[in-house]
Amino acid sequence: LFVQAALVPGADLSLDEAQTHYLRAVLRLGPGDRLALVNGRDGEALAVLEKLEKRSGLARIDRLTRPFAPEPDLWLCFAPIKRARLDMIVEKATELGASRLLPVLTRRTNAGRVTTERLRAIAQEATEQCERLTLPEVAEPVQLAKLLADWPPGRVLLMADEAGDAPDALSALAGLPESVGLAVLIGPEGGFDPSERDALKALAIGQEPRHGENEVNGVSLTAPGRAGFVLRVSLGPRILRADTAAMALLALVQAQRGD
Ligand code: SAM
Repeated sequence: LFVQAALVPGADLSLDEAQTHYLRAVLRLGPGDRLALVNGRDGEALAVLEKLEKRSGLARIDRLTRPFAPEPDLWLCFAPIKRARLDMIVEKATELGASRLLPVLTRRTNAGRVTTERLRAIAQEATEQCERLTLPEVAEPVQLAKLLADWPPGRVLLMADEAGDAPDALSALAGLPESVGLAVLIGPEGGFDPSERDALKALAIGQEPRHGENEVNGVSLTAPGRAGFVLRVSLGPRILRADTAAMALLALVQAQRGD
């Protein structure tokens, strides 16, 4: 169970209505049962349920069972897609160790409004299910142009590109130093539009993008002398759904980095 409180052995933890519902109705637990608690900063603790009623409960923290360890530094940037598959992307990215989830609005994004609160709840439930020690951060949606214009130095953006002329993801990943922070970028059902694709290509790694040559929605993406940071990667010859592409590429990154 993900809690806000500090995990101090011997301390009592009161459980709110949502938590007691999850423990009673979903996990079918009762007084005397044990459960794992995480809070995103102290690791994992074992607790014993002292009381579990309809609207409230009490757990006694017994002992720490896993020390805190930071999750991999892996961002998933994804164009919001239709609700069910959007939920799937958030859930699977959480299971696959993403530390930050950024919905990115592109020209062809046609999903409805992104309710960040709902995505955060999905990320929390997936965190509890896969026994992560930290919650992934779910950011508010951002325009692609702004995401690229404010891109942090040193982080590589792996753009999942179905165009067919991108190197395969595995060999591209193998060429990256373990130490570099990674992000994955997945397009919408309709793909990236030509101006977005050109802008992303112009920001390719190892290329000094020329100022003013790549703009998206009128936003210039490059300050003079800024190094490129985008690496286009292919996930094979077929056109994958966005949620499939997100899971596939995150799984490759997770397997290659082993964390
Ligand atoms: N442009 C696609 C088309 O022609 O139908 C539609 C986009 S696809 C449904 C959604 C996203 O998944 C793409 O923008 C891309 O990020 C990713 N994707 C799909 N297939 C891929 C592949 N074979 N290699 C890399 N990325 C892929």
